[in-house]
Amino acid sequence: MSTTKPGRGNWAEVLEWSRTLPLSEFKARADAVCRQHHGAGVWLRGLIEVSSYCTESCWYCGLRAPNSQARRYRMDTATLLETVRAGYAAGLRTFVLQGGEDPALGPELVAGWIEAIRHATNDEAAITLSLGLQSRQTYRLWREAGAQRYLMRFETANPQLFERYRPGTTLAERLRALEWLRELDYEVGSGFLVGLPEENQTDREAAWRLCWEFGFDMVGIGPFIPHPATPLGTTERPPLELCEQSVAAVRLLLPLAHMPATTAAGTLHPKGREAVLAGGANVLMPDITPIPMKKDYELYPGKVCVDESGLACLPCLDLRVRTAGKVIRHGVGSAPRRVAR
Ligand code: SF4
Repeated sequence: MSTTKPGRGNWAEVLEWSRTLPLSEFKARADAVCRQHHGAGVWLRGLIEVSSYCTESCWYCGLRAPNSQARRYRMDTATLLETVRAGYAAGLRTFVLQGGEDPALGPELVAGWIEAIRHATNDEAAITLSLGLQSRQTYRLWREAGAQRYLMRFETANPQLFERYRPGTTLAERLRALEWLRELDYEVGSGFLVGLPEENQTDREAAWRLCWEFGFDMVGIGPFIPHPATPLGTTERPPLELCEQSVAAVRLLLPLAHMPATTAAGTLHPKGREAVLAGGANVLMPDITPIPMKKDYELYPGKVCVDESGLACLPCLDLRVRTAGKVIRHGVGSAPRRVAR
């Protein structure tokens, strides 16, 4: 089994470090690699949650279709564009449109949104989509309309756990869709949950390996936070350290990838985002969804900052970033692989 790939960390070496070094030392190495390739900058991405409807039944998610207590909304075009314009005026240059797998967000509607956002931002902003599994044809349509990036986490690299926790879909199907996205020249983002019930260290190392093999442009790693209205609602939250270790490992394996300090890490622990920013992460994703809607986009309970606009959070994020010895960067912040072309 090969342990080297151009532009990536050495698999065997990083695995060995993860097993033998204290977490603080492992994170320090990841931080050094992050600073070497990305400096002290932390890119901002404006997250807009466009629909809380979903046809899927993922066991770990509060938006799963069988959750009759979930409050459902779908953003209209005028609200979306108003949100984008406010973010643009505040200096954001990447917008991430995220939603459940909602058939009402048809290919043509989303393609129209992409074109309208390009117009509203003078084509100066990058558009990232995170709208789940779609046909190759739909991904192509959205790419041709002007979306540059797509995020779709695989969540677990254990195929059995995947099929149990995402009933009706397979890991192979998800990986094939991620391959399509790469073929269509998207910047491809993925990632995983840390601390799902029955997940073990071997599964986490398999997730690191999958990220390393694929060479994602972006990797989001968040702790599992149980939602009471799901089949996993009474299980334990994982310790933050598991998340810190996975972020550091993937940073060492993929020096060029963009890696967010996830809101879930900040929900798990008050200093969660700072902890991962100090150990490999270089992106923050303020949630700029209008307040009434973002309260209803409840993937997991207790999400931080739902009572204020994501734009009002920017000074607070600035402070958090400085605590980790970093500075906020405004701009599109494309994947280094793309910039190097
Ligand atoms: S994780 Fe995504 S696809 Fe699964 S139920 Fe939640 S919103 Fe739907």
